[in-house]
Amino acid sequence: MTHAEDTRNSTIIEVAHRLRDAQRVLFITGAGISAESGLPTYRGIGGLYNSRDTEDDVPIEVALSGPMFKNRPALTWKYLWQIGSSCIGATPNLAHKIIAEVESVKSDVWVLTQNVDGLHRLAGSRNLIEVHGHMYDLYCTVCGQDYTAKDLLSNFGGVPSLPPECPSCHGVIRPKVVLFGEMLSESVTQAMIELINKDFDLVFSIGTSALFPYIQDLLFQAQSNETPVIEINPAITEVSQSCQHHIDLGAAQAMQQIWTSTHQ
Ligand code: NAD
Ligand code: ZN
Repeated sequence: MTHAEDTRNSTIIEVAHRLRDAQRVLFITGAGISAESGLPTYRGIGGLYNSRDTEDDVPIEVALSGPMFKNRPALTWKYLWQIGSSCIGATPNLAHKIIAEVESVKSDVWVLTQNVDGLHRLAGSRNLIEVHGHMYDLYCTVCGQDYTAKDLLSNFGGVPSLPPECPSCHGVIRPKVVLFGEMLSESVTQAMIELINKDFDLVFSIGTSALFPYIQDLLFQAQSNETPVIEINPAITEVSQSCQHHIDLGAAQAMQQIWTSTHQ
């Protein structure tokens, strides 16, 4: 065993002991937790847009922004479709499943995800805050009519085209997701305030580049409460330095090893 593997194994055992003894646990997750379910990430290991713009010559954060959607909905939809289409048929991986299992055996477990893929929900997590919404519910931006992903996929019985149009008023349809530069919903903001005021025993940051200020705020709050923060990410991120432990493995493998070690 190399020195690095040895260090990683003792970190996993230490984290497993902390998890075994904890009741109040927060999991903050990002695109990386769904990588092993076949969904691409934007940044970091395997990221589609690490050192390049989209094929429309704008950064992904601009392509998927509120102002771009207003001006050029077809362009934003091209990139919404990239995530949306890979969600079709995707299933939760071991990391999502173990997190749901942790919730079922402990008293106060929360998941705050930036993902729009709905995989935590499918895995059975119930104390779940999907900060950026999800791709399954949609609405018409003109008449407000609600639609589902199923309606969209069948394209209301017509020829598929982007941006999708409302069959009643021909307005542009969009998913109930928060685009870059848009505000979080009031209910999400309220839920985040409640989380920030909770005193967790343990916080995990899994598969996120942790670039959003509200994610960093949660992590810094945990640190100021002296709550250990464990980062699971094969890459180093902006917050790695300030986390108590960094496990440089994929989310499924890391969670499996941690969860198995809590039972030993
Ligand atoms: P990000 O793309 O910026 O970062 C992904 C992180 O995951 C990187 O740090 C990368 O190193 C890490 N990673 C890669 N493979 C991993 C693995 N197997 N296990 C653990 N970590 C792994 O994603 P973000 O921080 O979530 O922010 C991007 C924004 O884009 C978010 O708003 C998110 O909603 C959205 N997005 C969502 C999805 C999704 O719903 N699945 C996918 C792509 C982007
Ligand atoms: Zn309409």
